Amino acid sequence: MALTNTQYDSIMRGYEKAQSRNTYLLDRRFKEIITRIPEYLQIDNSISSLSISRGKRMLEGDFDAIVSLKEEIASLSAKKKQLLTKAGYPADYLDPIYDCPECKDTGFVNGEKCSCFKQAMINLLYEQSNIKEMLKEENFSKLSTDYYIGEDLERFTQAAKNSKKFVEDFKIDYHNLFFYGTVGTGKSFLSSCIAKELMDKGYSVIYFSSAKLFDTLSKITFEYKSKGELSRIYDDLYNCDLLIIDDLGTELTNSFVTSSLFSCLNERHLRKNPTIISSNLSLEELSNRYSERIFSRITSYFDLYKLTGQDIRMHKKRIANRK
Ligand SMILES: [Zn+2]
Repeated sequence: MALTNTQYDSIMRGYEKAQSRNTYLLDRRFKEIITRIPEYLQIDNSISSLSISRGKRMLEGDFDAIVSLKEEIASLSAKKKQLLTKAGYPADYLDPIYDCPECKDTGFVNGEKCSCFKQAMINLLYEQSNIKEMLKEENFSKLSTDYYIGEDLERFTQAAKNSKKFVEDFKIDYHNLFFYGTVGTGKSFLSSCIAKELMDKGYSVIYFSSAKLFDTLSKITFEYKSKGELSRIYDDLYNCDLLIIDDLGTELTNSFVTSSLFSCLNERHLRKNPTIISSNLSLEELSNRYSERIFSRITSYFDLYKLTGQDIRMHKKRIANRK
């Protein structure tokens, strides 16, 4: 994945913003604590003056004093945590705050790009920065089986259970998932849940609606002359930790789509990089619409989950209208 200077700067500005937002937040917390627990500030001041005298002693070469000062500082720090918990705050309430503890909001760990940097690149390059917002609404904590009964419920429960397992065993046990069935039965929801969990764990996830994916690919292939751009995007599609193609079948299917889809499935399978596809098509429609070899790849490489039931989105709308 290659970035232009402007794109690089915009990612780095994101980190600066996170740093200043978190510094401000921590500062506000500190003020709140010293107002509520005045003793906290006293201890904090003692630690500062002890640290200064420790520095002085170090310069003078007095190593015994350094050891005892170090112990004293440690016990005062523990006392600060006790004060916090006694007042009902978490012990780490005044620890530094980071959006990404891994790189401490710098974007780099040991000179290498942090996983959050890689995801920021993907978001930028594929204009999916709204994915995080979307995923706030769609994640396993919002999972509900209220809308299903009987066989529909069994199917959904099984698919949800295996979606969680997919996340747990990610990178250990290679699987691809294919969710298909009628409209509004939770297929995209499960894909989103998985995307959210894996992104939180630092994996790179590319999420495309089928229409957008093939539209993007065909634009670059036919309208641009940039070979570099095209190889970059294929490189990302083949190598990202998880590729999600949502709503397969809603694109304008043609020979270009068929061959791009086939390469995607094949190349990712060779690399053992998992893919999730959701589709409103039945297996029969899938086989009629795509080439034999795509159909056989999907049915042999993917775990197939059929979801059925009423259209949850319509159901929710009806309830909302009644209120
Ligand atoms: Zn990071």
